[in-house]
Amino acid sequence: MKLDRNVSAIVTGASKGLGAATAIRLASLGVKVALLDLDVEAGESLARQIGGVFCDADVTSDESVERALARARQANGQERILVNCAGVVHAHKAAGRDKLTGAVRHYPMAEYERVIQVNLLGTFRCIAKSAAGMLELDRLPSGERGAIVNTASISADEGQMGQAAYAASKAGVAGMTLPIARDFAGEGIRVNAIKPGFFDTPMLRTGPEHVRRALEASVPFPKRVGEPGEFAQLVEFLLTNDYMNGECVRLDGAVRMSPR
Ligand code: NAD
Repeated sequence: MKLDRNVSAIVTGASKGLGAATAIRLASLGVKVALLDLDVEAGESLARQIGGVFCDADVTSDESVERALARARQANGQERILVNCAGVVHAHKAAGRDKLTGAVRHYPMAEYERVIQVNLLGTFRCIAKSAAGMLELDRLPSGERGAIVNTASISADEGQMGQAAYAASKAGVAGMTLPIARDFAGEGIRVNAIKPGFFDTPMLRTGPEHVRRALEASVPFPKRVGEPGEFAQLVEFLLTNDYMNGECVRLDGAVRMSPR
């Protein structure tokens, strides 16, 4: 798919981090971008900077996503592109002992469900509702109607201690990418996913500095965390290479995560 001002895109989780970098890159290519996120202040500010439209959205809600898509389509027309970046992280052992008191605690189920709701069901919700709109579009000369990129994680392959919910949600995103690509094959909508390693975003920065340094040291080459722009570069490749379909690509500097 050619990326220019004839194409419009939805990017979820676009107020910050990998989604923001993706929105910036797509806008720089002329694509009309709608930024969907819970964070209104950061999203509106970025939308103003890049000439996009911000649409307040919670990917865990049917009604909220439908309202945001309607608003985005009113401003930019039916999207041919969807990039799913909205995501949350939460860490807790399935069951374990408190380091200080020795008390036994298990994973808080409400948090487990929230991670699955946002990362897995939220991604699927946006795919299903966005693709339903793409089906109304005429095909491009390439035969395509649209292209979708999901964000999984290397935790889908090697989740660390405490990552049961996060790894399960991301393995779900990775696992559903091929069957959804197959669902849409007859309609000309491609679906791919990215498994990022460690990227320099607000999500990564929530951890302590020594953890970040340890993460950097664990990356074989380049010995650093990834820049969000490098993620956006791969999104662009997956959108523009018409033969890429049903694939989940690692982007990680060859890192393989240890148990903790
Ligand atoms: P981030 O926290 O910097 O940004 C995530 C964005 O998603 C935020 O703007 C947040 O407001 C939004 N969001 C959260 N819940 C939402 C909801 N219910 N509805 C709408 N928006 C919501 O995180 P990031 O690092 O940019 O991560 C983006 C994606 O990449 C996530 O899916 C994350 O799991 C994945 N990922 C990140 C890394 C990394 O190292 N940063 C590594 C692997 C995978």
